[in-house]
Amino acid sequence: MGRFRLKCLKCGRDYGQTYRLGCDRDEAFLRADYKEKQLKLRAQPGLGKFHSWLPIQEELTTKAGPITYKSEAFAKELGLSKLYIGFSGYWPEKGAFIKTCSFKELEAHPTIQLLKESGRKALVLASAGNTGRAFAHVSTLTGTEVYIVVPDSGMSKMWLPEEPSKSVHLIQMAPGNDYADAIKLADRLAKLPGMVSEGGARNVARRDGMGTVMLDAAVTIGQMPDHYFQAVGSGTGGISAWEASLRLREDGRFGTKLPKLQLAQNLPFAPMYRAWTAGRRELVPELDMMDAKKQIKETYATVLTNRTPPYSNIGGLYDALSETQGLMYGITMKEALKAKILFEELEGIDLLPASAVGAASLLKAVELGSVKRDACILLNIAGGGVERLKEDLTPRFLSPLATAKTPEVPLEELIEV
Ligand SMILES: *Cc1c(COP(=O)(O)O)cnc(C)c1O
Ligand SMILES: [Zn+2]
Repeated sequence: MGRFRLKCLKCGRDYGQTYRLGCDRDEAFLRADYKEKQLKLRAQPGLGKFHSWLPIQEELTTKAGPITYKSEAFAKELGLSKLYIGFSGYWPEKGAFIKTCSFKELEAHPTIQLLKESGRKALVLASAGNTGRAFAHVSTLTGTEVYIVVPDSGMSKMWLPEEPSKSVHLIQMAPGNDYADAIKLADRLAKLPGMVSEGGARNVARRDGMGTVMLDAAVTIGQMPDHYFQAVGSGTGGISAWEASLRLREDGRFGTKLPKLQLAQNLPFAPMYRAWTAGRRELVPELDMMDAKKQIKETYATVLTNRTPPYSNIGGLYDALSETQGLMYGITMKEALKAKILFEELEGIDLLPASAVGAASLLKAVELGSVKRDACILLNIAGGGVERLKEDLTPRFLSPLATAKTPEVPLEELIEV
């Protein structure tokens, strides 16, 4: 069978070992079926350790990877006895070497590797910031061409820990456009010959790269955690954690109970929180995304403001929450800022806004009694260490190749077609 097969979650069709985003027949998600049913750790310094369950042939040698440690001070403050922190970012004292400072880099490394192995050319993506940074970095390391469309609000996040290479092409959206507009333009670019879309949650390499946070936790703790906390915008991290736990259950050595997903969004823009708490599988824009542009502007953690998350589809976040009896929280900016200060002071590392939302949801869960004090908890701090990084190196800002006034702008005005 090779190392893995990509199979459709709806009709079961087998697509083999290629770069592919969803089923031709029904557009459903694909999922990787790995030949190795037990996780066999490789001697690699970063996420390459988890090669058993990454949809690529060659082992990744990067030092970038998730780390897991047992919290003392923050745990004590909350009265929790088994709180583990999954940290994706830069914190060399703890062995964390993700220099773009978020778990998006866990998605970027396997995606670009799979693309290389599948013989495809340039990758196109839209990003509110962290994803763009991660893919620009891996493009610089590997020479793979990437086209990144960023809304104006994301430009301040477009820096790299090194001099960017010529393989990175950044397209800025003019002010007034949001992330949804960036997605529209990226979709048009991806249809050009020689280009391919990164596909977000539909991309199995992205999901399984992110799933390594759960794998690292299970290996470090010796079992799957009882609860998994994360702030979500697309929900891909939640889906990935769930899929990783399905594999860990099949492995047999890490327990049989799936971790309960406890996920948070940042108010006022919290469509999945609204739909899930209303018991709905469908996202209804009039109910869940009222006045979206205005709400998005008022949301502190902008990377969490995805308007088209993979929530309703088969194998999407609704399924992940259902199968794990999950919970969702709506977190205000005030709650996030309070948690950020507390966490940073007690744990000694700086957080990205989205991770402050994640930390705040754990505070809320403790308050509401949604976790027992002695439960085994994994808090996924999906991004942090930017301030720590600045002590060691100077971020270089990317300059845009072109600016797009609208998502409908003629493509010749942006790039050489
Ligand atoms: C992207 C991102 C999230 C949200 O991730 P999902 O794709 O919704 O799982 C959370 N935190 C940080 C730091 C991020 O960069
Ligand atoms: Zn299918």
